[in-house]
Amino acid sequence: MSSGVPLTVPMPGKPYPTVGLGTFTLLGKTGASEEVANAVKVAIAEGYRHVDCAFVYGNEKAVGDAIKAKIEDGTITRNDIYITTKIWNTYHNPEHVEEALRKSLRGLQTDCVDLYLMHWPFAYKDGDNLFPQDAEGNFLFADHDYVDTWKAMEKLVGTGLTKAIGLSNFNKKQIERVLEVATVKPSNIQIEIHPYFLNEELVSFCQLNGMTVTAYAPLANPSRVLYVESEPNIFEEPILKDISAAKGKSIAQVVLRFLLQRGVVVIPKSINQARIKENKQLFDFDLTESEMQQVAGLNRNFRLFREEMAIRHKHYAF
Ligand code: NAP
Repeated sequence: MSSGVPLTVPMPGKPYPTVGLGTFTLLGKTGASEEVANAVKVAIAEGYRHVDCAFVYGNEKAVGDAIKAKIEDGTITRNDIYITTKIWNTYHNPEHVEEALRKSLRGLQTDCVDLYLMHWPFAYKDGDNLFPQDAEGNFLFADHDYVDTWKAMEKLVGTGLTKAIGLSNFNKKQIERVLEVATVKPSNIQIEIHPYFLNEELVSFCQLNGMTVTAYAPLANPSRVLYVESEPNIFEEPILKDISAAKGKSIAQVVLRFLLQRGVVVIPKSINQARIKENKQLFDFDLTESEMQQVAGLNRNFRLFREEMAIRHKHYAF
């Protein structure tokens, strides 16, 4: 049956499952926390052992409650589940990095995370206002260099508050600067990757430098906030419909399997029980070389996540 895609990849601390549950839902949406807590419980019951979080998603407490419930009902132990979270842009001051992680640990109700990522390379004004703006609505930045933030993150590995550290949304030059100073190398990078945005050069560069690569928005987030009809949608692609019919698999499964076969980890988000289950059933079929090439043919350098509020920041990555 399926070959060539491992269930986990090596990481410092413990193996990193190649399929995880994404937990980003709309900030401030009513009921989002309950939805996420339920999704995490369903996912664990369905065999997921990897949850992707971030402080800025505002739902670490809900994720923590769900994990705690599944530990208490005997489904898992804490060690069975891989937890990733991310430091937000307002905590890049090296003096605030440890407290930022401690805030996340309190929400997640655990003594340490398995992976702590720097969410973006640019810093916003220090403090607990996560999107600081002036009266005219301009974003307020801070000058902290991500290299200094990285050095503070390295110390977190020493204190045992995280088992591994990594990056997210960095470009090649920025990663090179981190690698030049790192005594603890980044173990992972989380970047946007889906059929419309394969990000091939950066993936190869990171893998050559010993990082595992995680694809966020692996389904090109069909319900994204800024969705407009002219934007591409994987569920309407004839080529994906054909492969899906030929394989007896859903379009989401074809796309996720495509990414796994390209050697990246996937963290699809869903709050729907059937789709959570579907998104994990990826190990009982293979895409042929020809099918892989056809899906790769959808690539069009189409990036969804630009964090444009930071476009004037000197460390803006794109
Ligand atoms: P995504 O996983 O590509 O797409 C999620 C959307 O697809 C949801 O609206 C979901 O709706 C729908 N969906 C999921 N499975 C489906 C299926 N089998 N069939 C049809 N529709 C399906 O997008 P994402 O949430 O933006 O990205 C995934 C995760 O990556 C996030 O949750 C987050 O953990 C992480 N992320 C990180 C960054 C970063 O800056 N590092 C940025 C973006 C995302 P339902 O919930 O209704 O199923």
